[in-house]
Parts: sequence; structure tokens; C-alpha cells
Amino acid sequence: MRTRDMKKYEKLLLERRRKVLHEMGLLRGSVADATTKEATGDHSSYSYHMADQGTDAMEREKTFMFASKSQRFLYHIDEALRRIKDKTYGKCIKCDSEIGTARLTALPHARFCIKCKEEEESDSKKRQ
Ligand SMILES: [Zn+2]
Repeated sequence: MRTRDMKKYEKLLLERRRKVLHEMGLLRGSVADATTKEATGDHSSYSYHMADQGTDAMEREKTFMFASKSQRFLYHIDEALRRIKDKTYGKCIKCDSEIGTARLTALPHARFCIKCKEEEESDSKKRQ
């Protein structure tokens, strides 16, 4: 891949990275708030019912799940940025063929070409 093209994808990746970090920052804030309130026993800001407690726990669970998904996404973005530095970006890590510009534009952190990705997915379905 040409350096000029790599720069384009690097920009895309950095934009996505910024967006995820921003989202994660907001999420961390809300989780920390909920935990602090519980630890100090400060429930004065809202009426305290068992039903509310249940909903809060579920909301926190969902927030944590989303956070770990974001972390995985962030990891793949960082890996892609590393591959740009190594000049291996744009090649499938499995079969070494070009991933393709259409796929990279939609998914700049893609590691596999579409063929290997499909193989990967059908393999994991077989394992289940
Ligand atoms: Zn491949």
C-alpha cells in the first residue's frame, strides 16, 4: 500500500480512536458515580426502592459489557496503527493478500481479508 493511502487510513483510525476514548471516558464517569454512591450509602439523590436497586445493577452490568467491547475495539485500532508504522497495514494477517480499499474504508482496523474473515467465522460456528 502507498504511504499516501496509509496516511488516509491512519487518519480514519485516529478519528475512531478519539471517538471511542471519548465514549469510554463518559462511561467510566457514570460507573464511578454509581459505585461511590453505593459505597458511601448516599441514596439521597433518588428515592430508594428494592426495584430501583435491581434496575441499577442491570444498567451497570450493561455499561461494563459495553466498556469491554470498546476496549477490544480500541485494541484492534491500536494494532492497526502499529501495522501502519510497520508498513504491513492493508494486508491480511493470515494469508498476506490485500484486504482491499472498500473493506478498509468501512473497517479500517480489519485484520483479515473478507475470505479469511468468512473462514474464521464459519470455524467459530463449527466449534460452538
Ligand atoms: Zn486472508
